[in-house]
Amino acid sequence: MFTDGRSRKVVFVAHCLLNQNAISDQTAVYPAAFRDVVDFFLERDVGIVQMPCPELCCLGLDRGDPAGGTREVTVENTRIRAAMADPGPHEMLMRLADLVLLQIREYHKHGFQILGIVGANRSPNCGVDTTSADNQELPGRGLFMEELERRLTARGLSLPMVGLKASDNVPAKLQNLLSGPQS
Ligand code: SF4
Repeated sequence: MFTDGRSRKVVFVAHCLLNQNAISDQTAVYPAAFRDVVDFFLERDVGIVQMPCPELCCLGLDRGDPAGGTREVTVENTRIRAAMADPGPHEMLMRLADLVLLQIREYHKHGFQILGIVGANRSPNCGVDTTSADNQELPGRGLFMEELERRLTARGLSLPMVGLKASDNVPAKLQNLLSGPQS
């Protein structure tokens, strides 16, 4: 089964790394995408699974406040983090995490190589190494990454996770996914 042209290798990537149009107001760095992320994986025949943007799905493109872009990023991110705890957004966040887990489990069940999860550091949702809280960038996971990790652990699965920023040496950080444990 699946002995066709596909590589049977996938990576799960935060939505905005592939579509900067989804990111919160005044934080997009590129017109469309992190091209070096796309190039890195395509050069290695790795299929790129774009995860949903939790904030767009839970709060809307303006994150529920058209003035959000006027605030300092970590201040606005802290507001976003708090807004995600409201019942409606929280329920949607759980559904999105379930949806991503379902896909991971399908690839895992069929023996595909899942290189890992690529998040966006400083994000209140997709941060891997750092997130935003208390109006600062702090060590820790974003809410969405936390939920994904919780679900993976509950299923006995573990995937390498890497968090990126535009200022990073992106290929060097992604290289870590090639040497990490595979699930
Ligand atoms: S970091 Fe996550 S929540 Fe924030 S814009 Fe990107 S995909 Fe959406």
